[in-house]
Amino acid sequence: MSIDASAIVWAHSEATGSELLVLLAIADHEGDGGAWPAMETLARRGRVTRDAARKIVRRLELRGEITTDLNGGGGLRTAAHMRTNRYEVNLKCPEWCDRTARHRDLREVKADPPAAGTAPSRSAGSPPAAGTAEPSINHPNKQTPSSSEVMAQPELEIDSNQSGENYSEWSPADQLAKARRRMVEARDPKPKTSHTRPGFTVPPAPHVPRFDSRSLAPAPEHVSPEQQAANGAAAQLRCPAQGGKYRHLIPPATGTHCARCNAAAHDIINSQEAHA
Ligand SMILES: [Zn+2]
Ligand SMILES: [Zn+2]
Repeated sequence: MSIDASAIVWAHSEATGSELLVLLAIADHEGDGGAWPAMETLARRGRVTRDAARKIVRRLELRGEITTDLNGGGGLRTAAHMRTNRYEVNLKCPEWCDRTARHRDLREVKADPPAAGTAPSRSAGSPPAAGTAEPSINHPNKQTPSSSEVMAQPELEIDSNQSGENYSEWSPADQLAKARRRMVEARDPKPKTSHTRPGFTVPPAPHVPRFDSRSLAPAPEHVSPEQQAANGAAAQLRCPAQGGKYRHLIPPATGTHCARCNAAAHDIINSQEAHA
């Protein structure tokens, strides 16, 4: 909605300068129920003081480009004293507008003789949907009776013109410009992009010795399952070292002797059985 309103303002407003800026600000804010920007916002967008913005709004009203609903802004829950004015952009497309988003002047289309002359032969090959000038939903042409005449013009006339614009990159002028650019580039090619600044040298990378796994201490070998079972059983028993406060400490999968008393796991178990 706001894009359409802005487009209409751009295309059909008589406003200039700050007036145009303020009107565009209103159009930008326009949603389904109009726009209610604060006067500060309009002043800021118009690059003018609040008083000047108020005068500009007044002028736009008098010219009929907008209507103001005093204190009509805000939502359902907005308190009465907080309500801003609600504005609506009244600009409508004139008769000569093609009522597309581009708001083009149909008079210029009609005045273009080659478009009308070559239309039948060219339109056969051109995509049909691309150029059809459909009446816009956004700008229903209800208040302009003669617009029906405009829409009743043979479609091909508009079609050919639009498709010509859609494929403007194929125009001879563009092709020529492209060819000329290529020629210039071939004559003096762009210098190769250097990734370092001139005079800046990259310091050599520090030497890092290659990693060699052989430099590591060999992992301890795992002991047999029987030894592991003995380790587990021995680790349950009280170790006489360190005042008998702890159990034997034997690495379960890799050890054979207690780290505290240095007794072999099997000896610990055997002595325990002897005691029992
Ligand atoms: Zn228009
Ligand atoms: Zn021990």
